Amino acid sequence: MIPYGRQSIDESDIEAVVEVLRSDWLTQGPVGPAFEQSVASYCGAPYAVAVSNATAALHLACLALGVGPGDLVWTSPISFVASANCARYCGADVDFVDIDPGTANICTTALEQKLRAARLARRIPKVLIPVDFAGNPCDLRKIRELADTYGFAIIEDASHALGADYEGTRIGGGKFADITVLSFHPVKMVTTAEGGMALTANAVLADKLRQLRSHGITRAPDEMEFPSPDKWRYEQIDLGFNYRLTDVQAALGNSQMHRLNQFLDARRKIATSYREKLAPLQVQFLEQAEDRRSSHHLFVVRLKSACARRHVYNAMRGAGVGVNVHYIPIHLQPYYRRLGFAPGDFPAAEAYYDSALSIPIFPGLTPSMQETVIRELQAAVHEADRF
Ligand SMILES: *Cc1c(COP(=O)(O)O)cnc(C)c1O
Repeated sequence: MIPYGRQSIDESDIEAVVEVLRSDWLTQGPVGPAFEQSVASYCGAPYAVAVSNATAALHLACLALGVGPGDLVWTSPISFVASANCARYCGADVDFVDIDPGTANICTTALEQKLRAARLARRIPKVLIPVDFAGNPCDLRKIRELADTYGFAIIEDASHALGADYEGTRIGGGKFADITVLSFHPVKMVTTAEGGMALTANAVLADKLRQLRSHGITRAPDEMEFPSPDKWRYEQIDLGFNYRLTDVQAALGNSQMHRLNQFLDARRKIATSYREKLAPLQVQFLEQAEDRRSSHHLFVVRLKSACARRHVYNAMRGAGVGVNVHYIPIHLQPYYRRLGFAPGDFPAAEAYYDSALSIPIFPGLTPSMQETVIRELQAAVHEADRF
């Protein structure tokens, strides 16, 4: 089976991990901070906090921004469930903003309308979590403008978008979002097996994220309630978690960061080739604006109907091509239906979901594998056209 996404691990990655296994520190050693520094400087972020996965990063980001019971958090229905669950972990209420059908990112017109209504109802969200779907950045300038006008914070879920850029600067630089979250799951841009990171330009938020990552404990005398000259002294000043990333994982991440530009080039080539070779076919691609460049985490084709999508999915899976669907709208999950959401709530997201199919894209996808994907897609689409 050709998977839809897959990690790329080479000997340099393996050596980097083995080196840490032979060292004194498996966790909380020097490699974790080095990995944070590497991602921070790549993205142009003043502060980076590595954690055990992106879901943990989203949770801590919400807590650092003060999200709690009674607060409201908005996100996109076309995302992985973690983009919404993080608010629920804090006891907050979740709502969604419908997508732009061209990009599958949050629609800023829908967002503005919903904000106007929310102001009248005196129920402005505390945080908005826009998702850079498939690696294509959201309309960040417009979202920042609305955040400043209406008074909410932005957690950018850039789990797909490490290495993407917007108006010529990399995602995560801290110009638009208060906190940007990355994922290092094996199918994402670089991997640490499991892992995530929160980037910010705000020193206070960075401190808060670091504290919450490790039990709410501080060793900084100026943060203590009862400072003492005793060197063993630490204080738990908040209720935090153990969301740390190990040095073993960070070593893999560090090594992968050296390869990120190659990964991005490989993904861009594959995406360009798909767009050229699939152009004659009755499928649509996600729209790409001039002022941004995708990291091409996913390559989505849109079929003409739900029925065609089902046929193409089954036919390609049957032929050994691991196509996938990203995503089932979050509000249609049973857990969220129990909170009051129902089919019809976000029509653009639901229409997008009915037509979308992710076809394989990852750095190790060879030209011959890509030919197979294209051939099987052409055959399946032509079959679907007949009914
Ligand atoms: C992968 C992903 C996450 C969760 O990442 P983990 O590192 O697996 O916790 C969150 N949001 C989006 C959009 C993702 O794709």
